[in-house]
Parts: sequence; structure tokens; C-alpha cells
Amino acid sequence: MDKKCICQETQRHFLDRAFERLKLKSEHRQLLLSSFRETRITVPITLRHNGDEKLHTFQGYRVQHNHARGPFKGGLRFHPDVNMGEIRALAQLMTWKTALVDIPFGGAKGGIAVDPTALNEIEREELSRRFCQKMAPIIGVHDDIPAPDIGTNPQVMAWMMDEYSKTHGFRTAVVTGKPIELGGSAGRLEATGYGVAHLAHKVATEMALSPEQSRVVIQGFGNVGSHTAIGLANKGYRVIALSDVNGGVMNEAGISIEQALAYVAENGTLTGLPGSAPISNADLLELPCEILVPAALEATITCDNADAIQARLVVEAANMPITHRADDQLKQRGITVVPDLLANVGGVLASYYEWVQNLQQFPWDRETVLRRLESRLSHAHDAVSILAQEREIDMRCAAYELAIRRVDHAVQLRGF
Ligand code: NAD
Repeated sequence: MDKKCICQETQRHFLDRAFERLKLKSEHRQLLLSSFRETRITVPITLRHNGDEKLHTFQGYRVQHNHARGPFKGGLRFHPDVNMGEIRALAQLMTWKTALVDIPFGGAKGGIAVDPTALNEIEREELSRRFCQKMAPIIGVHDDIPAPDIGTNPQVMAWMMDEYSKTHGFRTAVVTGKPIELGGSAGRLEATGYGVAHLAHKVATEMALSPEQSRVVIQGFGNVGSHTAIGLANKGYRVIALSDVNGGVMNEAGISIEQALAYVAENGTLTGLPGSAPISNADLLELPCEILVPAALEATITCDNADAIQARLVVEAANMPITHRADDQLKQRGITVVPDLLANVGGVLASYYEWVQNLQQFPWDRETVLRRLESRLSHAHDAVSILAQEREIDMRCAAYELAIRRVDHAVQLRGF
């Protein structure tokens, strides 16, 4: 089974388990699993290579899963493997995430099946603008607010905001994750990793793991992994291993995150970081440590390596890095897991803050954004933790239960 199928199976398993515990009627389950609207469009653009002009037609998608609690919200992905099944599963995940942190949004996801690295800047701009033109009838400041995801970035959001504003008037709040100069939020870039570090510290403290005594291992040193590393190092944790797609580096005495960032900025990879020893991505996951943070890919911890994990706490910075069977194995071994639903929700929270600032036309400073982020994350964590203790269930079950209950309740109140 490929990774995407494993993830869809994993998510369905967690949902079914929560539906059972909540004793939801089958018609309610059906409604909660169904998308409100699934849009598929063709995005034709002319590609010019070596003086040759050719029309290419790309497939674009937007799945609007549920908007019982507020406008649809979710990222936009440019990747060759994008398809309706994947986008549908990710749109659902957004519904549960926005509900869990109790922000007034629903869930959506979109994308184009394209390799953005094969396009030049002009072609990427044309593709983004065409996509926005065709999606304009279903997106909007109070309807559906896209954001960047894999293969898209603040520039893509700037083009989309500009395209939408041509026909609707100046509308910064139609997308989030914009450049700061166009209404982007201070703190957005580091929000996800900062949130991961905040929650890891909160749960580690509950487990009586002090920063000074805790070794941290992080797989993935991109946006999320690097800001998690900065956040944990600032709190006094010893980060002993890091990795990227090329492999890992380790130093039992602790890696200087500042030095690692400077090295990556210069060399494009962690490989060869002075003062560290090389380690494979597979071996890195199995290192003796207190806190393990998978911050790269989905389905990283599976039945094949779950029994070899030595961490006491695993914090899911990536989406679905643990398969449901591996999750059971970790639980049986007494390893605590902070689920993705909670752990990496800092990104969508910061997106919400960007939207609020745009609506108010009143930008906040970075300290205000991060203070509010911490406060909401702590609230969400406490609600999950209390439910988990009351019901004697793990944090993942509690997070799904809370989120589903909120969405179901809103659906019933609105009378869909
Ligand atoms: P990114 O592209 O900035 O970084 C990904 C990192 O993973 C890079 O260091 C890359 O080299 C590494 N990597 C890629 N393949 C790898 C492999 N096979 N083994 C080890 N490392 C590998 O991406 P990101 O924004 O940091 O996102 C990381 C994860 O977090 C993804 O699962 C993403 O869906 C999830 N996530 C991101 C955000 C966000 O705000 N960026 C929010 C929620 C969830």
C-alpha cells in the first residue's frame, strides 16, 4: 500500500474509533465524513521552453469539507501526486484541527497536480492566477480562505490575492500566508514550529521530564523542524540529532541550532555539519532520547520500526507521521504521543490571526501573535488533557472526540 493510502486508512481508523466512543448515529457519521462541495477544474496555461510553445492542461482541486463552524479554511498544494482522494482526506483533517483549537473556521484543502519546480516564475504566476480566476466563485473572505502548503508560498498567495482583488476590490483576507507587506502576519513563519515546541515542553513537564535532562531528536529541518529546534533549544533542551532529506547528523553533547541554521543556509543541507557524526534517517528515529519529533513526512513510524523507538514522548509535528498500528504499538509500550491534530495546529492558528488582522485592518506585533498563539494552544492542550484523564484515553482519542463533538454540535444547531 502506498503512503497516501496508509494515511487515509490511518485517519479513517482514528475517526471510526472516535465515532464509536461518541456513539454517533450512522447518519451523523455519514454527514461528518461527507464533503460539502468537491470542485475539480482544468487550468490550461501555455508553457514556453527552448523557443517551443505548448498548451498544458493541469487538474486543479478544492474540497470544502465542512463549514458548520465558520468559513472553509485550508492550504493549497502544488505537487505532481495531488488527487481528489488526498485532498479530501486533508480537507477533513482541517475541519477537526480548526474545531480542536476552537477557531471560527471549517475545513478545506486544494491543489494542482503539477511539479512547480518544472515551471519558471512567469508560468507559476500564470498557473496561480488562472486557478484563482476559476475558483473565485467559491472562495472569498467569508466563504473559503486558502493558504500556502507544499509547493506554494507567500508569493503564490500574493498573486492570488491580487487576482481576486481585481474583480472584488482590495481583499487581503481572501488568502492567508501572504508576504508581510501585503497583510501577512508577523510570527506566521515560525508559528507551527513554535507551537510544536510549546506543546512538547508542556507535555514533557507533565511527565516530569526537565529540559536539562531531556535529549531531543528531530527528523526534518525545514520550516517546522527548524523552528521546533529553535523553540526547544531556547527552553534549554539538548537537541542531539537532526536530519533532512539527505540524512542526519548527531552529537550526544548537543547541536548548536544557530550553527546548524547557518550551515544549512550556506550548504543547503545538514550533511557534513562540523562537530557532528552522520546518521541515517532510519537510525535517527531509533536513537535513545526523551523527545522525538517527526517533522518531515507522513507514515514515518510504522509497524516496522515502532518497537525500536526509544523516546518517552513523540510529538507529531508532521501530518500523520505515525500509522494507526504503530500508534497502538507505541501506546502498549507506554510511549506518550502528542497527536498532529494538536501538535502542529500553530500554523492554522496564525492563519486565523492573519485573517482577523486583515478584517480589522490592524496589524499586531510578533509578541502579540505569539502570546495569543501560546494561550490558545495551552487551552486546547488542557481541554484534551482533561478529557483524556477523565475517560482514561490517550491524547489522540481525546483530541478527535473533542473536535468531532464540536463540529457535530454545530451541524445539529444549524440544522443541516
Ligand atoms: P519543509 O519542506 O519546509 O521541510 C521538510 C523537511 O523534511 C526538509 O528538511 C526536508 O529535507 C525533510 N525531508 C524530506 N524528505 C525527507 C525524508 N525522506 N527523510 C527525512 N527528512 C526529509 O516542510 P515543512 O513546512 O517543515 O512541513 C513538514 C511537515 O509538517 C509536513 O508533514 C507538513 O505537512 C507538516 N505541517 C506543516 C505546517 C506548516 O505550517 N509548514 C503546518 C502543519 C503541518
